[in-house]
Amino acid sequence: MKSKILDWIDSHRQTIIAIGQKIWKTPEVGLLETKSSKVLVEALKTAGFTVRENLAKMPTAFIASYGIGLPIIAIVGEFDALPNLNQDTTPFKNPINEGTPGHGCGHNLLGAAGVGACLAIKQLIEAGEIQGTIRFYGTPAEEMFNAKGYMIKEGLFDDVDVALTWHPADINSVTYITSNAMNSVIFKFKGITAHAAGDPYNGRSALDAVELMNVGCNYLREHMISEAKIHYCILKGGDAPNIVPANAEVWYFVRSPKRHQVDELYERVIKVAKGAAMMTETELEIDVLSGTFNTRYTPSVQEIIDQNLTFVGPPKFDVEDVQFALELQKTFPKGSAEGHLKYIPNNQLEQMKNLIKKPLCDEIIYNFGKGSVMGGSTDVGDLCWKMPTAEFMASCMPIGTPGHSWQITASSGMSIGHKGMILAAKVLALSALDFMTNSDLVHKAKEDFKQWTENRPYKAPFPEDLIPPFRQYN
Ligand SMILES: [Zn+2]
Ligand SMILES: [Zn+2]
Repeated sequence: MKSKILDWIDSHRQTIIAIGQKIWKTPEVGLLETKSSKVLVEALKTAGFTVRENLAKMPTAFIASYGIGLPIIAIVGEFDALPNLNQDTTPFKNPINEGTPGHGCGHNLLGAAGVGACLAIKQLIEAGEIQGTIRFYGTPAEEMFNAKGYMIKEGLFDDVDVALTWHPADINSVTYITSNAMNSVIFKFKGITAHAAGDPYNGRSALDAVELMNVGCNYLREHMISEAKIHYCILKGGDAPNIVPANAEVWYFVRSPKRHQVDELYERVIKVAKGAAMMTETELEIDVLSGTFNTRYTPSVQEIIDQNLTFVGPPKFDVEDVQFALELQKTFPKGSAEGHLKYIPNNQLEQMKNLIKKPLCDEIIYNFGKGSVMGGSTDVGDLCWKMPTAEFMASCMPIGTPGHSWQITASSGMSIGHKGMILAAKVLALSALDFMTNSDLVHKAKEDFKQWTENRPYKAPFPEDLIPPFRQYN
């Protein structure tokens, strides 16, 4: 049956690429991905999937389902773009529409590969060769906030047995590296306006409160665990120097490797904010945008993906791909490929040193990043705490491509990205097939997951009544 999956994907390669290209050509930022989600929804509806749209108060969230009964395997995909990263498929900076969004994280490929995998599995269900339910979860706005957490909170993942996902990268590997848990919060201070020179004693500056809060948090850094991270940017700081600012806002990310560490540190950040409000006699309003868990994958699901990644093998890049990669690599900041060396066990150092000299990853990397935590955060973390989940990376860009960059937009719209995407579709489909044809694997994954999460059931890491933040901060 594995060969049937591979044959189907190979013979529908152009269909899957066309889906990825349509999304690449209409890049839309989080919660506004109406055209992008429609491309995926239409492909699934046409193939006979039952689609539920407009879920968890997010118009672009959807679930497409095919088949009946157990097991229920979820393939989870994203399709949002990033602001200001528009770019043509050239190895030099060349936006098609300057200043508009682009797929600088490769999510056009992410969604399309997942749909391709679901379509392949559907063929076998339809032919009566396998039983169970395959679902594609269209999860919007990954770059902005925890849309997956909202979908979990609505109970939309409650009956899922195993969740599979992937991400475009510059290597081929199961994702072992974990991400940070995070809170995203805006602190809004309200003061009293006054003429800054005429009667400043009547004014109470909200900007002072923001600045004092930032100073307080910068002192806090010495007294928090070294793995934690706090970053901020000032969203609003007043209108003119001669007006005491009555309104000021600062947006904070608080990150740590574990969820409880974020909760603890966040409480201390709130104390600093309250202190700043007290010092400046301003009022404080706390506007939570999102909270996210750290990723923590289920090992037995990772094993299945590792086997299938080995079975399919790395993408086969040709001379033109290599030429493109070498040209694009000339635009990378110095040392960007060396970043990989931070995340590898010592016994793989030589292999990785050789790898980072290459233009493209033409091998499978095993155990990459095991035991390491990457700086960023993703709402895949919430999936990991809800059900057995694993993720992998497929090579869709040259080695050392910086994250969230125009270089990723370029690679995601041409053959390098397409080859990685087809590999991803195959590995997703084969892994789903393994779980749909062997109930022992599902059982093992669930037991494995239960062991990890005993006494720690998933609880949304954001306030109960929070609604998706349709405010755009792009
Ligand atoms: Zn991203
Ligand atoms: Zn991404």
